[in-house]
Amino acid sequence: MSHNKGAYEELRALRRRAGTLGSVGSLLNWDQETYMPPAAAGHRAEQSALLAGLVHERLTDPRVGELLAACEADAAIRADAAASANVREMRRDYDRETRLPKDLVEEIARVGSQSQEAWKEARAKDDFPMFAPWLGKMVGLMRRKAECLGVPRGGESYDALMDEYEPGATAKMIEGVFTPLRARLSTFIGEAAGKGRQPDVAPLGVKIDPARQHEFGLQVLGTMGFDLGAGRLDVTTHPFCSGMAPGDTRLTTRYRDEKFTDALYGTMHEAGHGLYEQGLPKGEYFGEPLGEAVSLGMHESQSRLWENFVGRSREFWAWALPRTRGTLGLKGSVEDYFRATNTAMPTFIRVEADEATYNLHVMLRFELERGLIGGTLAVNDVPGEWNKAVETYLGLRVPDNRRGCLQDVHWSFGLFGYFPTYTLGNLYAAQLWEAYTAKEPGFASAIERGEWLGLRDWLRATVHVHGRRFPAAELCKRATGKELSADPLMRHLERKLRPILGI
Ligand code: ZN
Repeated sequence: MSHNKGAYEELRALRRRAGTLGSVGSLLNWDQETYMPPAAAGHRAEQSALLAGLVHERLTDPRVGELLAACEADAAIRADAAASANVREMRRDYDRETRLPKDLVEEIARVGSQSQEAWKEARAKDDFPMFAPWLGKMVGLMRRKAECLGVPRGGESYDALMDEYEPGATAKMIEGVFTPLRARLSTFIGEAAGKGRQPDVAPLGVKIDPARQHEFGLQVLGTMGFDLGAGRLDVTTHPFCSGMAPGDTRLTTRYRDEKFTDALYGTMHEAGHGLYEQGLPKGEYFGEPLGEAVSLGMHESQSRLWENFVGRSREFWAWALPRTRGTLGLKGSVEDYFRATNTAMPTFIRVEADEATYNLHVMLRFELERGLIGGTLAVNDVPGEWNKAVETYLGLRVPDNRRGCLQDVHWSFGLFGYFPTYTLGNLYAAQLWEAYTAKEPGFASAIERGEWLGLRDWLRATVHVHGRRFPAAELCKRATGKELSADPLMRHLERKLRPILGI
């Protein structure tokens, strides 16, 4: 490379430093979600705001702008595929970040941290009016954020926010994907409700000591190839994965008495995210775009693959049952567990929804948050509109706000434009699964033998190692040979669920 190798390396070092500072914030956030005593919340909000401001300062340092300009003018960098992709994405980040004033960034972090605490309490007490003023503040901050970022021509404020999570996606595009998918899912679920027989879920109702569930969770993580020497599994209210630093990917789950599979699939889900984080080339590129996940939709595809395509298969239960009969006290057969974990039955809670109804939960959130940001929905109307949407989409009457609009943490700290990535993830997952199993038709029996690493390694090679080198849509096409489509997901659901439901 030419004389500007110096500029590129300096730029990389600055990003790595900002990434290191950011990872301190991630650690604080992990702590807040797991072990922090409630009385520490006030000071934690100050710590989070300070760090967010410092990271922002680093990322918007005018020196970064100078170095970027020098790299962009350099023919040698342009000719180097990896370096030019890295610079292209750093430019994107710099432009986004410099449009946001520091006081706004700090304010979002501070209010978000307080609002999250308010949400926890409001949810526990089923008290929407307690949360409403915080939600109002976050919506206001997010609209200001969108204004600063700039609304794309012909687009809407929502697009500017969603672009952070799914670069390039717009509300119109999402609507275009969701509308036909909603029709196909509704038809299918209607058919299931009309003449289908829902499987017996009684086998899931065994009470299992959380310590034993945890032990089994760790065994599943090991089989997935998650490196526990470079990660952890802890307990929280709202499971998540934080790939905070090289060698440090933390997963959380929650154990419930009523249904042990919630924790099991929660763990597999977060571990799917965790494998992506562990598969990113962070040793070489920590803090740089080439060491970061391409989009949240692609991230979610990794979790859904393990949770639904591996975890809810007959072969998974053929592997799991003989290993856990003694420790978990499970009584049913492989067929019983396979059927019990594959219902198509509307329920209230998104994170516990089955594969068939899950995306309807996402679609209603997308519509409501688009309305909140666009100004067509007032905060105080959220519970009513939520309940109306649940009735239309899922045919259910919401009994309380805990099982309604207070169930998700996202809006409390300003994650607007985030929900659609869950459904994009399901679509990417189905398409990746179809591509992998076409190439490796023997993988189903490999699942039964506990030989799951083939999938992890394929995902690593086709998705993880690239970081943000290719946009998500292109990465999908390179990995699967096709543009993203809803067909693989519908094929998967129909093929698996029709025989179970008898339709
Ligand atoms: Zn996820």
